[in-house]
Amino acid sequence: MLEHDVVVVGAGLAGMQAALHAARQGVSVAILTKVHPVRSHSNAAQGGINAAMEEDDPWEDHAYDTVKGSDYLGDQDAIEVLCSEAPETIIELEHMGVIFNRGSRGQIDLRAFGGQARKRTCYVSDITGQVLLHVIYEQLMKAGTTVYEEWFVTSLVRQNDAVCGVIAMDLCTGELQLIKAKAVILCTGGSGRVYEPSSNALICTGDGYAQAYRVGAPLMDMEMVQYHPTTLPGNGALMTEGARGEGAYLINADGERFMKRYAPNMMELASRDVVSRAEQTEINEGRDINGCVLLDVRHLDRNTILQKLSQIRELGLEYEGVDIIEEPCPVRPGMHYMMGGIKTDIEGATFVKGLYAAGESACVSVHGGNRLGANSLLDTLVFGKRAGTSAVLYADSIDSPDIPDSRLQEDQEHINGILAQDRDSGERAAALRLTMGETMHRHVGVFRTHNGLVEAQAIVANLKERFRNVRVDDRGKIFNTDLLFALEVGLMLDVAEAIVAGALFRTESRGAHYRTDYPERNDDDWLKHTLVFHGDSGPRLETLPVTITQWQPARRTY
Ligand SMILES: Cc1cc2nc3c(=O)[nH]c(=O)nc-3n(C[C@H](O)[C@H](O)[C@H](O)COP(=O)(O)OP(=O)(O)OC[C@H]3O[C@@H](n4cnc5c(N)ncnc54)[C@H](O)[C@@H]3O)c2cc1C
Repeated sequence: MLEHDVVVVGAGLAGMQAALHAARQGVSVAILTKVHPVRSHSNAAQGGINAAMEEDDPWEDHAYDTVKGSDYLGDQDAIEVLCSEAPETIIELEHMGVIFNRGSRGQIDLRAFGGQARKRTCYVSDITGQVLLHVIYEQLMKAGTTVYEEWFVTSLVRQNDAVCGVIAMDLCTGELQLIKAKAVILCTGGSGRVYEPSSNALICTGDGYAQAYRVGAPLMDMEMVQYHPTTLPGNGALMTEGARGEGAYLINADGERFMKRYAPNMMELASRDVVSRAEQTEINEGRDINGCVLLDVRHLDRNTILQKLSQIRELGLEYEGVDIIEEPCPVRPGMHYMMGGIKTDIEGATFVKGLYAAGESACVSVHGGNRLGANSLLDTLVFGKRAGTSAVLYADSIDSPDIPDSRLQEDQEHINGILAQDRDSGERAAALRLTMGETMHRHVGVFRTHNGLVEAQAIVANLKERFRNVRVDDRGKIFNTDLLFALEVGLMLDVAEAIVAGALFRTESRGAHYRTDYPERNDDDWLKHTLVFHGDSGPRLETLPVTITQWQPARRTY
């Protein structure tokens, strides 16, 4: 049995930041990740990270834009922490070695992002996440943290009322290990692959949501699923909002900048939920080009595109055969981000003792009903640090837990059952995932209805039943990715169940959750969070009040 004071699951920005700040306090910290740390999905973040860096930009203005962007569902105490700690976070990154783009006075340059009254996004070309991830990884190496690289956590260990370790598989050998810990921090990222298509990589399977849910930690606001306005139709790849920040237009089949009818002040830089709904309306009403609208940067200076948007130029060329310097590129709304997640307080603590969460897997909640672009990287770093620090305080206050070896057997038997499943009659995990993903996109996407959600609920329940007979073709031990994928699909089905439950429960429209049968925001009944608890006979729903500090809910226009 392995043992550490604090175990962090996930080595994206949130996980590495949590591990780094825990390790700096001198305790034994380990970080587990199913892929090499710098292959974590934070790597894909293109556009940047928000902070009020200018003297005439008080952090309260950033907080107000975030509150408004959240459609007043974000908890304002958490948003105050996020935005007030943002500038020092950027400076800390810079001191670690992040080479932010510079402006003409040598200051950190800022670009415009959606839903914000002014430029506030620090960036490194359109590879911001990649640079941040590599720089923080260097710091993690320097801190001497133990890294279990290419280890897959199959479940959390809960004894009595506290989480006290994880069961994990070393993917290289296929062996399961019990890793004891006084505190566990889940930083497992989002769950894009619950949808098909998605801008998220194949590794974004929401494992942590399901694992926390299964040990009794509630998931909050799971119905709040962000559709990004500019994803490629072929494979869901993202064309950064930074393009619109640099001045790109969105046009329909008539060549019209249609956003003037939906958000006359902010146009293409309205918040993502607003732009995605506008695009989907254009598409549904026939002003589309093969199910898409067009992202047009032809009027921008060629050097701006080559220097600041080089990665999306490559994506356009590679996947759509379009050179954005010469032609507009087809785009459409695509599943991108989970505003909801494992409910935590502002120190990263969940409802279950010993269990912490940060980053996209957590819901603190700073994004509420709609996340502002470039607020997620900030969320991972601000709350990753807090989770790492508070997990150590908790770990210091308790004795080492005692866990029977039999706990490992439960996971081993589950895996043995999958490996032993009949190859001819068993269900293929890929088929189950595809049905789930397409169902979620059809019924739990930009527009939702009661009937569609009920249908999605029935399909997900049926898939869960069919999953009992899931089979794998590879029965080997070494890097059995067939088995890994089957285990991920089992977890994803729980995430889908929680998203649909939240969407059915919230009978109003707010942020990214738009019910055509309840088209208005209803503050009287729904200025509150939804909580989904795991129950033996299905999800159990409760609500929590929203924390309001300085900004009273108001009508939201852009
Ligand atoms: C294409 C794209 C562009 C984006 N651009 C921006 C941007 O410009 N600005 C911004 O603010 N946000 C952006 N975002 C959002 C942002 O990148 C993510 O929300 C954020 O990086 C998530 O970081 P994280 O640390 O929470 O998770 P991740 O970086 O996804 O890391 C998750 C970690 O968990 C590990 N893991 C998961 N499950 C297990 C398991 N069972 N066992 C072991 N390890 C596990 C993974 O291996 C990985 O190390 C973008 C998102 C996408 C998809």
